[in-house]
Amino acid sequence: MPRVAYVNGQYLPYSHASVHVEDRGFQFADGVYEVIGCIHGHLADETGHLDRLERSLSELKMDMPVDREALRFLMRECLRRNNLKNAGIYIQITRGAAKRDFKFPAPETPQSLVIITFPFDFDGNVGVVNGGRVKTLADIRWKRRDIKTVALLPQALVKQEAVEAGVDDAWMVDSDGYITEGSASNAWIITKNKKLVTRPVSYDILRGVTRTAIEKIASENNLVIEERAFKPGEAYEAVEAFTSSATALITPVIEIDGHAIGNGKPGDITQKIYGEYRAYVDGLRGEQVHWESGL
Ligand code: PLP
Repeated sequence: MPRVAYVNGQYLPYSHASVHVEDRGFQFADGVYEVIGCIHGHLADETGHLDRLERSLSELKMDMPVDREALRFLMRECLRRNNLKNAGIYIQITRGAAKRDFKFPAPETPQSLVIITFPFDFDGNVGVVNGGRVKTLADIRWKRRDIKTVALLPQALVKQEAVEAGVDDAWMVDSDGYITEGSASNAWIITKNKKLVTRPVSYDILRGVTRTAIEKIASENNLVIEERAFKPGEAYEAVEAFTSSATALITPVIEIDGHAIGNGKPGDITQKIYGEYRAYVDGLRGEQVHWESGL
């Protein structure tokens, strides 16, 4: 079965799936995206991801190019046409194609909507089983990291530097020395007194939808979340650490800057949260969470 992508109203084979050379996403990174996991046929945190997509668009003064129900249908149709039950779904919306000019194009310019699906083996994800190693690197991004824009070059640069240094990912650090988040995930540590610490919501980080689901899981499992910024030095002393995101789900972090975290193995609390998140996605823990910017 040939792979197909949805591009501006059409399902196209991959070899023909392209956007215009003057698409503003291509020229200005003038667009937003979402990634949603489809795990055993369940769209994980679909509600929250669509909430955040609408908010990212509105912050950039863009509309949804199709309504939410239509988008839900298009995602499922892409999965069906690609015969996928375990997949990542990538949605990208830009301000459309127009003659290159910094100012916004005429309001009637059609926006671009692209949906790509890719197979993703959530059960065989070695990162989740074995945990990952991270390196802290300077956060050189713009000042509105709460918007999920396609301007991802800083994240690509830190990820590449981390991989070249022989680890799995980067945790970015702001100019005051505090960790912001991972290159494509939220960063968490667990302190000796078993508190989950993660950076508070602000313009400095993307408020993860998975992070929001963890808030629900924590409250249902008597786990306390302390929202505050933390520095690498504190992270080295943590008993456990992990990252959260739509595809990596809850991935243990077993080493930061060469310091083993806890006993250097995925921790019990992290694994418990992972198990609870999987049950939540399977629909065994009630309604999926809504997402709000919190700003
Ligand atoms: N922070 C950044 C910078 C991200 O790119 C992502 C996901 O791509 C996240 C956090 C986690 O967000 P979510 O849990 O909604 O996937």
